[in-house]
Amino acid sequence: MVTIVQPHAIRMYQPPGEERPIPGDNKLTLTAELEAEIKAQSEELDGAKPEEILRWVVGRFGDKFTMATAFGPEGMVILHMLSEIDRKTHVFNLDTGYQFPETLKLRDEVARRYGIEVELKRAATSVEEYENLHGGPLYRTNPDQCCFDRKVTVLKNAVVGFHAWASAIRRDQSPDRANVPIVAWDKKFSLVKVSPLANWSKQDVWKFISDHDVPYNPLHDQGYTSIGCWPCTRAILAGEDERAGRWSGFAKTECGLHSLDK
Ligand code: SF4
Repeated sequence: MVTIVQPHAIRMYQPPGEERPIPGDNKLTLTAELEAEIKAQSEELDGAKPEEILRWVVGRFGDKFTMATAFGPEGMVILHMLSEIDRKTHVFNLDTGYQFPETLKLRDEVARRYGIEVELKRAATSVEEYENLHGGPLYRTNPDQCCFDRKVTVLKNAVVGFHAWASAIRRDQSPDRANVPIVAWDKKFSLVKVSPLANWSKQDVWKFISDHDVPYNPLHDQGYTSIGCWPCTRAILAGEDERAGRWSGFAKTECGLHSLDK
């Protein structure tokens, strides 16, 4: 049984079908009360099903709740769940300009299947402008800067006016993600962050996809276990870690979106 801590001064859930106002630019501040709520709720929800976690965050934050997705298998599972809980949830994709065509096609599939229009959020410069500015593709020499410019900065702008966001990360994906709480304060973006699939395994995700016929990126069937931008993603080899194909050849393991409290 999940205890819902009553909200303070934040809009509550609106039933599907009702129009939502565009969020203003008011920022959520971490008060002692909110910090205590986050901690209590995270502990309460740690054994809960992902759907219960999503129902909590939708009820708690309403139209101030958003989700970022790169259309990975975990994100597709959450989109499927959200389509049954509240399909008016705002969802966006960080369109770096370097995504695989297969990834972008999933946006149309999500709209067709679930009626969810995923908004594409882009950097201020096109890929061509960006590469001209840096004398060539920055992902070859400084992927941290490239991710910062084309993902982190874009996300910071995309979440203005929102108070909570969902990530699709799992604790067993990597050591960096092993201790992610179900509900946390995301210092980098001043948002409450929920990770409804934190306790799920890769097998849980793929079983859900199979059981519910959830659409997924066809590149997964070609050995691409974790898919980001095409220049920084390769298929993995037998025995490799599922994220070994990301930024292969660099020490980098995260794009900076989920290593937030630094
Ligand atoms: Fe740039 Fe690669 Fe990061 Fe995409 S994943 S933003 S191409 S460095």
